[in-house]
Formats: sequence, C-alpha cells, structure tokens
Amino acid sequence: MPKVLIIGAGLSGLSTAYALRNSNFDVEILEARPRLGGRIFTLEKENSQLEMGATWFGPQHTSLIQLIKELNIPFKTQDNGAEAVYDFRPKGNIERFQIPSQGTATYKFNHGTSHLIETLAEASGAKIHFDEVVDSISVDESIKVSTSTSVFEADYLVLSIPTQVISDSIEFKPKLSETFNQLLQNTHTWMSDSIKFSMAYEDAFWKSQQFIGTLMSPHQIIQEMYDHSTIEGDQNALVGFLNSNYSNLNSEERKEKVTRLLESYFPEKERRLKAYADVNWRNEPYTIPKNAKSLVPHQNNGNPQLRDSLFDNRLFFSASETAQQTSGYMDGAVHRGTEVADSLLNLSV
Ligand SMILES: Cc1cc2nc3c(=O)[nH]c(=O)nc-3n(C[C@H](O)[C@H](O)[C@H](O)COP(=O)(O)OP(=O)(O)OC[C@H]3O[C@@H](n4cnc5c(N)ncnc54)[C@H](O)[C@@H]3O)c2cc1C
Repeated sequence: MPKVLIIGAGLSGLSTAYALRNSNFDVEILEARPRLGGRIFTLEKENSQLEMGATWFGPQHTSLIQLIKELNIPFKTQDNGAEAVYDFRPKGNIERFQIPSQGTATYKFNHGTSHLIETLAEASGAKIHFDEVVDSISVDESIKVSTSTSVFEADYLVLSIPTQVISDSIEFKPKLSETFNQLLQNTHTWMSDSIKFSMAYEDAFWKSQQFIGTLMSPHQIIQEMYDHSTIEGDQNALVGFLNSNYSNLNSEERKEKVTRLLESYFPEKERRLKAYADVNWRNEPYTIPKNAKSLVPHQNNGNPQLRDSLFDNRLFFSASETAQQTSGYMDGAVHRGTEVADSLLNLSV
C-alpha cells in the first residue's frame, strides 16, 4: 500500500486524510502540537467553550459547508443584534449605529469549531502522531521525514502547514529553489498577527434589547467584539480581537485591561467572570516563525505556484493559503486539502 504522510493536523491536512479514507493509501499524520486543529482551537474552560481561533464562515464558503453537512455538524447564524457600539475614544465619542438587517449571514458552529476538527479526524481513520515537529525532509527513492526523535518514511508527502513555517523551520534535501523558498517566506499566514480573546460570564450583563455585544473600538484594547452566548442560555460569552499594541503584555495583564474596559461600558451592572483566555497568535511557533517578515494581509495567498507539486508529483503543499479559492480561510483549507487528495487519487489509478 503506498504511504501518504501528511504534515499538520489542521483543517487542510485532515481534509486530505478524510478524502483518502476509502482509498488504497496508507495515511498517517505528524502533528507538532499536542492537540488537533492548528489555527482552529476551541478551549474548554469552566464549562465554557472559548473560541481562540477560526469561528465564522459564510454561504460563499461552499467547500466547508458541503463538508460540515456531510459530517452532520450543526451550525447556526451569528446574531449581532440591532445596534453596534462604536467607541472612538480618546479621539471621539461612544456612538451607536444600526446594523443593517439585510446583510449577508455569518455562521458559526453550535459546539465550537473544534467539533468539526474532532469529527473529521475520527472520520478520516488516519493514525495521528502528536508532538512530532518535522525539521527535515529528504527526497530520494523514498521520502524521509525527520523529527527530533524519529524518522518516518513515505511514498508521498503533503505539507499542510503554513508556508512561512515551512521556509523557516524545515530543511530540504535536495534544497528547494531559492525563488520558491522566497515565495513560501512571502506568503502571508492569515490571522497570524491577531490576538483573539474570549470570556464567559455567569450572566449576559451586556445585553439589552438593541445591543447584544457588537462593539468596534479602534483605539481601545478590545478592537472588535461579538456575542458568543448560546440560545439555550448555558453559555454567556463574548469573543473578539485585541489591539496588537498590547501584544507585549501577558494574558493576565490583558485580562485586567479588558475587564476594566467592559466595566467602563457597564458601570452599573454586576459582572461575574467565569473564564477568560486569549491567544497571541504571533507567539505560536507552529503558526508563524518568530522572525517572520511583516507581510501585507493575504500577500501571495492563492499564488498558483504554491499548488505545483514537487519531486515528480511526490510532494504537495496544502495549507489554506495555497488554495485557489478563499485562501487563508477555513473554506480554502477544505478546498485545497480535498484537491490534493484528488491529485493523489488520480496518480494511483
Ligand atoms: C485568530 C484566528 C481567527 C480566525 N478566524 C477565522 C474565521 O473566523 N473564519 C475562517 O474561515 N478562518 C479563520 N481563520 C483562519 C483559519 O483558522 C485557517 O484558514 C485554517 O484553520 C487553516 O488550516 P490549515 O490546516 O491550512 O493550517 P493550520 O491550522 O495552521 O494547521 C497547520 C498544522 O500544522 C502543524 N505544524 C506546523 N509546523 C509543523 C511541523 N514543523 N511539524 C509538524 N506539524 C507542524 C500545526 O501545529 C498545525 O496543527 C482564523 C485564524 C486565526 C488564527
């Protein structure tokens, strides 16, 4: 049985493994982290689901929607309420704006985005090795993939990790061309420069008839915020993005500032915080290298050269940023992961 080794148990890698589940390939996955999902990470804390990575998708994300329907994963529409608060302080005032009711729907998963990842991993049937950080790849008659403790052999290799990470941390023998390596380095890793936060409270003290949590505040620590409560009422939560000017603080210091800002909006309300978490993705080495160049958002995303297979159709690149459509997004990861599986299936017939 020809062996396919997939590097990275994020959405793209798992989509490839899932699409190959009934093939005559033997599929194994090497994952650097001790968990599945990569940039998808639903943290369970104090009986709350805090969404630290990808959360939302839309009707245009057809590959993702097809997959989640096939896997029977429930999803719902994001409710942003009737009004948003814009806090322009200190350069302006706090103002309220009507949210257009006819906008395009945004969806999210009923049980967190990791529900998709866990279901996909299970349905793929692939063997997953955790805590295996790939640091070198040699391609000869067979492909040898090394981590600090092991060497894995394969006939085909799918690199489903952000291209900037590939360029920074994996040594190739024979070497990749300098032009291609530059392209890998100069391909922006979507959302790798964000700080995502989420917090759960005993009560949804922020909700009123018109406003349910949608906040934009360009100069404050919270830059964007949305309600993340469940309709059933078993979770009262907020989720959003923090200002990158606060990236040098630790999570506890950011928590202090975030809760103080919320207090300033609702001074009269009693607040009982259950759980807070944030992830500064800039500090996640398996998402973005420490000294990565600063790139324009989506720079080189979807570049057709990223979809060229190397070494006589034995090595493929499949992170979301390599996708032709919706690159950088969950949909791009599913689309490209499935496309790579199709290429492998075409080779084997
Ligand atoms: C904060 C944030 C918010 C986002 N919000 C949205 C959203 O709302 N909607 C949306 O559509 N998209 C969103 N995204 C983007 C979305 O998460 C990605 O498009 C998608 O998850 C990418 O999947 P991937 O498998 O291509 O890459 P990744 O998820 O990055 O997976 C790569 C995997 O490879 C592993 N890996 C890395 N290096 C190595 C190595 N050397 N050896 C072995 N394994 C390695 C990593 O640990 C990881 O598991 C968001 C991303 C972030 C960070």
